[in-house]
Amino acid sequence: MLPGLATPSILPPLAAVQRTSVGVIGAGVVGLSSALWLQKAGHRVTLADPAPPVAGGSYEQASSFGNACTMAFGACIPVASPGILRALPRMLLDRHGPLSINWSDLTGLMPWLASFLRAASPVAVSRIAGVLGSLLRLAEAGQAPLFEDARATHLKRPTGCLYLYRSARSFARAQPEIALRRREGVRMRILEQDEVRAREPNLAPLYHKGLLFEDAYSIDNPLAYAQQLLRCFIDRGGEVVTARVRTIDRGTDGLTIRCEDRSIRSDHAVLAAGAWSGGIARSFGDHIRLSTERGYHVMFPGEGGLLSAPTCYPEHGFYMTPLGEGLRAAGTVELGGLDKPAREERTQVIERVTRELLPCIGKAGRTWLGFRPSMPDSLPVIGRSPSDARIIHAFGHGHIGLTLAGITGRLVADMIGGQPPLVDLTPLRADRF
Ligand SMILES: Cc1cc2nc3c(=O)[nH]c(=O)nc-3n(C[C@H](O)[C@H](O)[C@H](O)COP(=O)(O)OP(=O)(O)OC[C@H]3O[C@@H](n4cnc5c(N)ncnc54)[C@H](O)[C@@H]3O)c2cc1C
Repeated sequence: MLPGLATPSILPPLAAVQRTSVGVIGAGVVGLSSALWLQKAGHRVTLADPAPPVAGGSYEQASSFGNACTMAFGACIPVASPGILRALPRMLLDRHGPLSINWSDLTGLMPWLASFLRAASPVAVSRIAGVLGSLLRLAEAGQAPLFEDARATHLKRPTGCLYLYRSARSFARAQPEIALRRREGVRMRILEQDEVRAREPNLAPLYHKGLLFEDAYSIDNPLAYAQQLLRCFIDRGGEVVTARVRTIDRGTDGLTIRCEDRSIRSDHAVLAAGAWSGGIARSFGDHIRLSTERGYHVMFPGEGGLLSAPTCYPEHGFYMTPLGEGLRAAGTVELGGLDKPAREERTQVIERVTRELLPCIGKAGRTWLGFRPSMPDSLPVIGRSPSDARIIHAFGHGHIGLTLAGITGRLVADMIGGQPPLVDLTPLRADRF
């Protein structure tokens, strides 16, 4: 029997290390969590981002702004799976499906897609689920101290999270994934129709069975969470540089992080610029198979009372998450790069399906496009740069970056402190493709 979620006390205390200077690139939730763990380990940290989460600033470029807010400790199943493989041709031709592609980008996407397809074999999926499982079991242990430090525990909504299957067929198809989750120690409970109805009376009865992830919780406002983390970082003496990083120059006596109009000198650098990390890595010689899975959200202001917990129909590919601000329907995948504008038809589909599932929902409000930083095998990159061991890569968390941010930060701090890693980092190497 595998252990369930690890509590903070299971992590060995941070070892006393030689104090160094570290430049963290990117103030998404992964960069912020890394910066805080590095401070906890005693390092001097500078954080660079063109649009950090300061009050009054815009943070909408960050995936950490608009996600589905769910700490998804059971999410050990990679996006590429045998089921996806079967459905892929139909999905890619359907511009309204949960997975779509900008066909004009196909040539550029080919290497990524080829690796994605290779990662979808049953053997690969089982291996990847094992790696994700080992990270996810430590996720709360990495996250909880940051919630405490940043005085953000009031943002936690400990409601669990519900998956719903529309038909006996879709539930039967999910069985291999459910078995893998069970193997990884994920706590789940199957709910019958009447149990789902009792929990979520506002949902149309379009479900055959439910799967309740009891340990999951949501963060009521991911922007406020990022702001609290940043405030804590500054209160502890951290420096914020509001600038876009171009590259890192590697000298024998240290690193120079080059921004548009200034430079930051440091002993180490952490590259945590989400989907933009690939371009920065390329500038100093690391070619990483990072792309973006674009995702959208539609807000329904004032409708947060309609559901008691984040609710997801895997076949529609998005969550409906109740928040203080309203109900946020967030998800779907669109392959197609960082430069193309949002496609309205994608948010129209999310809105239409949400209305089908929650017939009494009111008017839709803000829509948002975000860029998940995604590797083809759904595993993040956490480890030293192949070009220079002083640079640590921490990006590529795809669909579960909010969930894995805390433990990623702890792994980064251990690496810079020369401590043995808490998990085997070999499968997370930047040059694994
Ligand atoms: C629709 C949707 C729903 C999601 N739902 C969930 C969920 O429920 N649970 C979950 O765990 N995850 C979820 N995710 C995934 C999660 O949001 C991401 O994995 C996570 O936010 C990635 O964090 P990050 O810090 O790596 O990147 P980001 O949050 O994208 O931050 C990157 C930062 O880098 C900065 N940057 C960019 N270029 C530069 C540069 N040149 N120099 C310096 N800084 C730069 C940007 O300004 C930005 O602030 C979802 C994502 C989407 C899109």
